[in-house]
Amino acid sequence: MRAPLVDGFGRVHTDLRLSLTDRCNLRCTYCMPAEGLDWLPTPELLTDDELVRLVGVFASMGVRTVRLTGGEPLLRRGLPGLVARLSELGLRSSLTTNGLGLARQAQALRDAGLNRVNVSLDTLRPERFLELTRRDRFADVVEGLRAAKLAGLDPVKVNTVLMRGVNDDEAADLLAWALEHGYALRFIEQMPLDPQHGWDRATMVPADEILEVLGRHVALTPVEHRGSAPAEEFLVDGGPATVGVVGSVTRPFCASCDRLRLTADGQVRNCLFARDESDLRAPLREGASDDELAERLRVAVAGKKAGHGIGEPGFVQPDRPMSAIGG
Ligand code: SAM
Ligand code: SF4
Repeated sequence: MRAPLVDGFGRVHTDLRLSLTDRCNLRCTYCMPAEGLDWLPTPELLTDDELVRLVGVFASMGVRTVRLTGGEPLLRRGLPGLVARLSELGLRSSLTTNGLGLARQAQALRDAGLNRVNVSLDTLRPERFLELTRRDRFADVVEGLRAAKLAGLDPVKVNTVLMRGVNDDEAADLLAWALEHGYALRFIEQMPLDPQHGWDRATMVPADEILEVLGRHVALTPVEHRGSAPAEEFLVDGGPATVGVVGSVTRPFCASCDRLRLTADGQVRNCLFARDESDLRAPLREGASDDELAERLRVAVAGKKAGHGIGEPGFVQPDRPMSAIGG
């Protein structure tokens, strides 16, 4: 076991977001352009063996949880096998997915040791889903959610990004629907991570507003002990059901951040909004030892900034879009 990954502000890093691919089978308007986004060439992607070796180095430095994401992680071939290998490293794993194909894979993923799943869904209206994702696949997401629950993944969370004039009229309906089906709903503020660089603060629906709207329909009681979790949780009508709000922009949680990211092409990012990356793939392929990789990782973490700086004068959006970083 190596020393933990502590940055210059004393934050200890125990959570890894692992992007398995930059490809996706949806084209959510706030995440990807309709066409014209180049995929990473396959030789640049980490193989399963490379990935497991690197995650082993992260684990030896105190990382305990790994969230598989993308792009769409279910598009990665042999995903259950990879999940099983990550479980063998002693890591708790979760998956962030758009839900397409989850119906087919949920049981195998559960059997391989996957602990939890977050399914992204921004609307309950099939026509609006088509507009928002540019694909007519609403029914597949609903089916995937049902299969995740049946497979015993617990909790099954639903992530929703609300946008003004697009789907902000559905907050209460989404909550009622999630409660009815036993899914834990979390609203996420829209962040400046789109490839078009078209993010606009006025379109984002801030956490305060989401809570105010929900509060007209249900009683919300804050749950204490947030720790490093990005979501602020609230009991709904006294519980036990909860709803979460991730106020990344208006209520940043950078001071307690314990997260690191590894992109599908082997670059460490110490923040979603970092403008620098640290390459682990090149040294790995050139024969670096685990100690050398660990040292690179330590330097990458040491350089983490205090906060994301959205809204501050010098803020510049990262070059990589969300789909290539791993949300
Ligand atoms: N394809 C998977 C999915 O949609 O869940 C995993 C990757 S996706 C990038 C992860 C999460 O990021 C999704 O919940 C998505 O809604 C969210 N997301 C994408 N772009 C975003 C943005 N600009 N601001 C906030 N959340 C965003
Ligand atoms: Fe794909 Fe997820 Fe981005 Fe939608 S949010 S385009 S599903 S990566």
